[in-house]
Amino acid sequence: MTEVAQRLAQIQARVRDACQRAGRGVDEVTLIAVSKLQPPELIREAYEAGQRDFGENYAQELRDKVKALADLEGIRWHAIGPLQTNKAKYVAPPAFAFHALDRLEIAQELSKRRTGAPLRCYLELNVGGEASKSGVAPEEAPSLLEQVRSLPNLDVVGVMALPPPVGEPEEARAGFRTVREVAQRLGLRELSIGTTADFEVAIEEGATCVRVGTAIFGHRPT
Ligand SMILES: *Cc1c(COP(=O)(O)O)cnc(C)c1O
Repeated sequence: MTEVAQRLAQIQARVRDACQRAGRGVDEVTLIAVSKLQPPELIREAYEAGQRDFGENYAQELRDKVKALADLEGIRWHAIGPLQTNKAKYVAPPAFAFHALDRLEIAQELSKRRTGAPLRCYLELNVGGEASKSGVAPEEAPSLLEQVRSLPNLDVVGVMALPPPVGEPEEARAGFRTVREVAQRLGLRELSIGTTADFEVAIEEGATCVRVGTAIFGHRPT
C-alpha cells in the first residue's frame, strides 16, 4: 500500500467515526482530497485507492491536471480557491463543483462558459470578518444568491467557508455553527467546511463536504 493510500484509509476511518458520533450516515459526507501543489502521480495513487473527489485551488494548475489525468474515469474536480474572472475559462468546463463563489462577476463568467450539466456552486461566506479577504459577508449573501440564481448553467447547492486557523479543532465549532445557520437562512442544504485541522468537528456540525489536503498528501511542496 502506498503512503497516500494508507493516509487516505486513516482519514476515511476518522470520517466514518465522526459520522457515527454525529448520528449521520457516512454517505452524507464527501471527502474532498485537496491536491493543490501536489504532483499528478499522488492524485493517481489516491484514485487507485478509490478516491474520486479532488480539490484544486489554482485555475491553471487545475487545467493542467485535468489534462494530465484525463484517463481517470469518474474523477470529480472541485475548484476550491478564489478565482479571477479571466481564468474562469479553465474551471467552467471541467469542474464538478466550484466552492468559492463570492461575487457576481465570477458567476456570470462561469455561467457563460459552462457547458453540459449545471455547475454545482457553493457561496463562500466570510465569517472571519477582516481576518479573511475572500468570501461574501453573511448580510450580503441573500442578494448575491438571488442574482446568481437567475443565471443559467449554475446550480447553487450550498455554502463554503474557510474560517481563520485555530489552535484546537474545538475552537472551530462556533464558526461552523454560524456557517450552518447562514446556510439554513439561505435555504441551502450543503456545507463545505472543515480541513485537516478540524474536519471531524465540521462533520459533527453538519458538513456535507470536508476538504482535506495535508493529512492525505503530506506537506505541500513550496
Ligand atoms: C488548502 C485548502 C484546504 C486544505 O487544507 P489542509 O490544511 O491541507 O487540509 C481546504 N480548503 C481550502 C479552501 C484550501 O485552500
